[in-house]
Amino acid sequence: MTLPLWFDPELVFINGVWRAPDAGGVLPVEDPSDGGQIAQIARGTSADIDAAVEAAEAALHSDWGRMTATERGRVLTRIGQLVLTRIDDLAMIEARDVGKPLTQARNDAIALARYMEFYGGAADKIMGETIPYLDGYTVYTLREPHGVTGHIVPWNYPMQIIGRSVGAALAMGNACVLKPAEEACLTALAFAALAQEAGLPDGALNVVTGLGEEAGAALAAHKGVRHISFTGSVGVGTLIQTAAARNVVPVTLELGGKSPQVVFDDADLDAALPFLVNAGIQNAGQTCSASSRILVQREVHDTLLARMAERYKTLTVGRAVDDPSVGPLISARQKDIVSGFLAKAQDLTIAAQGRMQDAPRGGHYVLPTLLSGVSPDHPLAQDEIFGPVQVVIPFDDEDDAIRIANGTDFGLVASIWTRDGARQMRMAKRLHAGQVFINNYGAGGGVELPFGGVGKSGHGREKGLEALYGFSTLKTVAAYHGG
Ligand code: NAD
Repeated sequence: MTLPLWFDPELVFINGVWRAPDAGGVLPVEDPSDGGQIAQIARGTSADIDAAVEAAEAALHSDWGRMTATERGRVLTRIGQLVLTRIDDLAMIEARDVGKPLTQARNDAIALARYMEFYGGAADKIMGETIPYLDGYTVYTLREPHGVTGHIVPWNYPMQIIGRSVGAALAMGNACVLKPAEEACLTALAFAALAQEAGLPDGALNVVTGLGEEAGAALAAHKGVRHISFTGSVGVGTLIQTAAARNVVPVTLELGGKSPQVVFDDADLDAALPFLVNAGIQNAGQTCSASSRILVQREVHDTLLARMAERYKTLTVGRAVDDPSVGPLISARQKDIVSGFLAKAQDLTIAAQGRMQDAPRGGHYVLPTLLSGVSPDHPLAQDEIFGPVQVVIPFDDEDDAIRIANGTDFGLVASIWTRDGARQMRMAKRLHAGQVFINNYGAGGGVELPFGGVGKSGHGREKGLEALYGFSTLKTVAAYHGG
């Protein structure tokens, strides 16, 4: 099966030119569904990052920098329209590159288009304000781009994360240098080619593929970068923030999670069930906002566990292009990590697992696994597993639920399932999370909804209009003209 590529993945994209990386190296691209090599990507290094930052800086002072906000918005909207014409190709590329089941990969491509439309429409709607001040003064604020922005993204939702971070940065007039994850570069390059076709001026977006510790570290430490948007692990996020601190530049950190769904005994269990399970197994659990903890009020614990177990038994596992419920994990390494967690689950009860379809040998498969009998301080209830594993934990009352829900280092998202309106409000206030869902989970992805974490889930907000404030800086102008 050949990949539908309209770009050469062995090249980096700098200043509107596709060129070989400075050091000439390549890295293999593996299909996680069978372990076979499907392409090679360029191994960009610090020299390519230098060239990309230089090109981005130059773009700020040429065609890109001279565009009005409305013109920038039009370009973004055109990119979105072009993305929509390539949904099936983008989905196929992503399915082969990261093992994402086709339907889920398609949804990512649609979300990428939606981010471009949303930020295209918003580009000329972010305004400053006038401030009443001393007699004889007129004071106003200007929202200005940071300048060159660095974007370091992970492999689990490349299209969505590029859409939300690069889309918002471009809308505000920044010039971007994107370093995709080494395991997931193909849709980033595809996106760059579509952006170029849509008329994005040279240098406004530059893409350097390569290893995190080479190209990624060079970008994070680069003195010409004025803002860094990082999505990934807590460990690397800490390195990024440290590097940014040396240059005193702001960072947005979108890190991991251990997000709970809290189910009370008055909840509509029929409505909750698909959300409870899907939020744990979507993208094989490799989702920052995966719901890996299901907290259930004791009165309905056994009933809900049995119903979730029934659902787990219907889950299929197989190659991404066959569109199973659960595809492979991204890599052999990720499979080892998840298997290591499951090895620590010997004292727990396996309530149910999914079933393997005819998945090829060499693929990185782990059966979706539902665990019960888990105490809140067990490693599987505390650490981000990043695999299709959910734990079910009973609780007694609201205070108990809050103690358990807030009892990890993370705070990305949380949901509450109850018909009691007052309880919904109380719980939403008390939960430590950047997003709280009431009687749903994820709210359909929510391009429009500000997203980000508290605690070790990170800081700063992306998505929605809020991201545009993060990707800009505020200048206050105080004019004295006399009374
Ligand atoms: P990772 O931290 O290993 O890698 C993320 C990116 O950082 C990649 O592009 C990688 O090349 C780069 N990188 C690695 N080492 C680097 C270094 N020393 N300097 C600079 N860059 C470096 O994360 P991952 O394994 O790709 O992704 C999984 C993690 O991402 C999980 O913890 C998950 O929760 C998190 N995540 C968070 C969100 C969110 O929005 N909060 C979304 C998706 C993923």
